[in-house]
Amino acid sequence: VIATAAVSMALTLGACGKAGGDDSGDKGSSTKIGLLLPENKTSRYESLDKPQFEKAVKAACADCEVVYNNAVSDVVKQKQQFDQLIADGIKVIALDPVDATKAEGWITEAKAKGVKVVAYDRAVKGADAYVSHDNNKVGELQGQALLAALGPKAATANVVMINGDEKDPNAGLFKKGAHTALDGKVGKIAYEASGEWDPKVAGEKMSAAISSVGKDKIGAVYSANDGMAGGVITSLENAGIKDIPVGGQDAEVAGIQRIIAGSQTFTIYKSPLQLAPEAAKFAVNLLKGKELAAQGTTDGVPSTLFPPVVVDKTNIQTTVIKDGIYKAADLCTSD
Ligand code: BGC
Repeated sequence: VIATAAVSMALTLGACGKAGGDDSGDKGSSTKIGLLLPENKTSRYESLDKPQFEKAVKAACADCEVVYNNAVSDVVKQKQQFDQLIADGIKVIALDPVDATKAEGWITEAKAKGVKVVAYDRAVKGADAYVSHDNNKVGELQGQALLAALGPKAATANVVMINGDEKDPNAGLFKKGAHTALDGKVGKIAYEASGEWDPKVAGEKMSAAISSVGKDKIGAVYSANDGMAGGVITSLENAGIKDIPVGGQDAEVAGIQRIIAGSQTFTIYKSPLQLAPEAAKFAVNLLKGKELAAQGTTDGVPSTLFPPVVVDKTNIQTTVIKDGIYKAADLCTSD
């Protein structure tokens, strides 16, 4: 009786296509696309990137499905998520790496298993495709917007720079671009540190900057993104520092609310309505073995890079609201 049961069980499993790793077992996975995002301290990933990517994949391929995971800033966790997708038979992964250098090795492993990788927003050497915004330009725009906000005071201003996590190649590009715009044009970069893409760390670094430079001697603050700008601005307010230019990036709701309230000067808008559909197009084309249709190449990887846009008090309406990213009511503040 036991033997018969085992045979019938095996037959049933075989019929379901779940026995072993044969072709029938991989069928379901051939319409699945992995999406691995790096962290959740920055709001864009779960509020914009994930839903927009899912929507764009559906639009490009009706029977495709996205399998999503967030690494919560943990590279070990992200590697496990990556390996799990491959073990589940998924053939295309859109990867926004926690640590781009480490991820280079993952691409080699994926290649050996016939899995394609789209580098999503953060570049990974050796990926099959890459989609992002022009990240050097992001930094330049941030630096230029700070200069413009400082006006004639720029020449003598002490600027504090709170940069992003160095494991993210974008952080280096933002920093480099910002230095290109600021160096020689401001009094000096009086303090510079990595805020590690963490609002709390950024706030702590800002407090250290205030102690080091002096409460009344800071002219402006460069924060690489809005999440960190939140921590920076709290730290400035706690020290009684007001009315100095502070810039960020991401056009987060909280960032735009601070722009409206006056505590933040500008942000950089990188439209998810450009990024996500292009990434979805790459992923679906790779899945179906079609031409990528990228706009160019970056370090030999077929890539599309979109232009970033500065958003300040004057153009909230004509950017994020016009694009339908937010409704005016989403941006209301109590003050
Ligand atoms: C992204 C930014 C984001 C930051 C922190 C960067 O790679 O380009 O938009 O704020 O990572 O996650």
